[in-house]
Order: sequence, then C-alpha cells, then structure tokens
Amino acid sequence: MGEWIIMASSLPLVFDAPKRGMPPRHLADLDSEQRREAVRELGLPAFRADQLARQYYGRLEADPAKMTDLPATVRDTVGTALFPPLLTAVKHIACDKGETRKTLWRAHDGTLLESVLMRYPDRATLCISSQAGCGMACPFCATGQGGLDRNLTTAEIVDQVRAAAAALRDGDVAGGPGRLSNVVFMGMGEPLANYKRVVAAVRRITSPAPDGLGLSQRSVTVSTVGLAPAIRKLADEGLSVTLAVSLHTPDDELRDTLVPVNNRWSVKEVLDAARYYADKTGRRVSIEYALIRDVNDQPWRADLLGKKLHKALGALVHVNLIPLNPTPGSEWDASPKHVEREFVRRVQAQGVSCTVRDTRGQEIAAACGQLAAEG
Ligand code: SF4
Repeated sequence: MGEWIIMASSLPLVFDAPKRGMPPRHLADLDSEQRREAVRELGLPAFRADQLARQYYGRLEADPAKMTDLPATVRDTVGTALFPPLLTAVKHIACDKGETRKTLWRAHDGTLLESVLMRYPDRATLCISSQAGCGMACPFCATGQGGLDRNLTTAEIVDQVRAAAAALRDGDVAGGPGRLSNVVFMGMGEPLANYKRVVAAVRRITSPAPDGLGLSQRSVTVSTVGLAPAIRKLADEGLSVTLAVSLHTPDDELRDTLVPVNNRWSVKEVLDAARYYADKTGRRVSIEYALIRDVNDQPWRADLLGKKLHKALGALVHVNLIPLNPTPGSEWDASPKHVEREFVRRVQAQGVSCTVRDTRGQEIAAACGQLAAEG
C-alpha cells in the first residue's frame, strides 16, 4: 500500500454542532422541465434555464458569481435559488505519486462523505458516494460500522463528479490536464438503497449537454450488495450502465453474516436478478468478491462460485477479486497470494472470467469510509 500524504487541509475539522438534513434544492436536482419551471418562478426568461445548465454541466462552473454571461443583477437571486453551497473540500489525500486522490467533503449540514479519483494511462475513474455512511452493516467494512448518516441528494452525488471533472480539466491532479472518463458508485453507501436519487444522478452524469455531464452510460458502474427488486427495477430503466454485485461468497450460510442483507434476498434471488439485468441490458455483470483469509477463500467456495455463476449468468459475468486490505483493529485479513491464485484458477476452470483487481482499487476499497470516520 502506498503512503497517503495529506496535501491540503485548509479547513478546520471541528465543526459547530450541525443540524442534519438534506440541502436546499440545487440545479442538479432538477431535470430539464423542472429547471425551466424553476427559472420561470424566478421571473427569468426561459433561455436562462439552459444557459445555467451549460455553465454547470458544460463549463463545470457551480458559482453564479463567475457566470459572466448572466446579468450581474440576477446572479445573487440565481445563486440563492439554484446554487446553494453543496460540498466543501475538507482535505485531499494523495498516493501513487498524486495520481490517486481521495477527497473528504463536508456537506452543508456537517455530514462527511468522500470520493476518490484514480488516474490511469488510458482513463480517469472517479469513485463516488451515494450515501453518507451505510446501513448495510457488512462486518468487514469501515463505513458499515458507523451506520447510515443520511442519503445524499442527486445534486450532492452529481457535484462530486462535476468537481472531479473540473479538477482534471484544470490540471489539479498529477499527470497534467485530462478528462474524466469513468464513474463508479463504489464509495460510501448502498446506491440502490437511495434508488431514485441515484438513478436521477446517473441520468445527469450521462445526459449530453445541456442536460448533463455527457459521460457514456457504459462508463458508469452502479454497485450493490444485492437488493434484488431494485436490481430488476434498474434493469427496466433503459440505461446501459454496468451493474456490479458485491457477492463475497456463493453460499447463503456465510453470506448471511458477511453481507447481512442476504437474510432478506438470498444468493439465488440476487443472481436471478443479475441475470434479468444482463438479459435486459445486454451488459455483462461484474461480481465483486473481497477475498478474506480463512473466511471465504477456500477452494470449494471457488468451485461453488464458478458453478453458480456459470449456471446463472453463462458468459454474461466477470468476477473481480479484491484482496482485502484490513481496516485498523480489524480481525479480517487478506488471503495469501498462492490462495488467491488458486481461487482464480478454480473459478476460471468453471468457464467464468475472473481477475484480481489492481492494487490501486484495493487500496481505495480498503480505505472506504476511513477518512470520514477520522474526520
Ligand atoms: S461494504 Fe458497501 S454495502 Fe457493505 S457496509 Fe460497506 S459500504 Fe455498505
């Protein structure tokens, strides 16, 4: 694991006792029709709606004071009504020579959340949070230990993406100016437990200007611990985002403990829903599997995983093994490399594609929630 370096900490980490709650409405909460209505309510001509959207999604500008094509006389009104401050960067932490950058954000009510930007030679991926904290209580996960703080709004989700796209464009991340290419909902929270806001955020992230940031749907990944009905609902949205299911074990007995929501929807129900998703969208489903020493890394579990996935999904599946990087004080540990190699071999032997996620992803996954917990 690379060493995390604190790059900037311009704001205090002790806050006044905040009043928890959703922020006021923001432009990014609104679809195009609602945006026009909001502009009408302010007594502004209809064309201002698209003009504001082009500033936000196209120029990545969230401060009306800097929107120079807007008459100075209306900037304050527009700012109050449609651009309430959403997220303030509390600190950035970098590793991998600055090409991985984690940002701790403070929302308007003091709620803390985080996003992580990872630059690779061929792409730049942002990992975003959909909730502050998480209510799914997976015992090996730092975020899960703190419980759910609150859902994030659509705008709070979208603004993490806008801010990262702006940082890349402006050369604020090591490696020179660049473009954001991928977004993964793998930060804090269970995205499908905040379904409506997450789906709305996906639409804003992927719609072309002036309605959104214009990323390709295929470059967006929505992860879930397996809320089966919500997976089916997502399949019917007409989106072609990648679905990533955090399975972590193929048997209900262990999964009931590792991923407590399994008590509600069993492995079979989750895989049936994943198949429905693959059939409806034509997209291969990713199965996430955090490999934990002596917990879920046995050869028989690899065989069972391969068999179940092959039966349920055929060729429409790929397994990402994630070497667990334990959180401080945790009893969970990563599997030895030879165990990991054997696990991959056995899954592949069942005709299922399987790779080990690169170490950068490992670092990020392992650190999920720690920064906010420390804040
Ligand atoms: S692993 Fe994911 S779903 Fe489980 S508690 Fe952590 S953030 Fe929530």
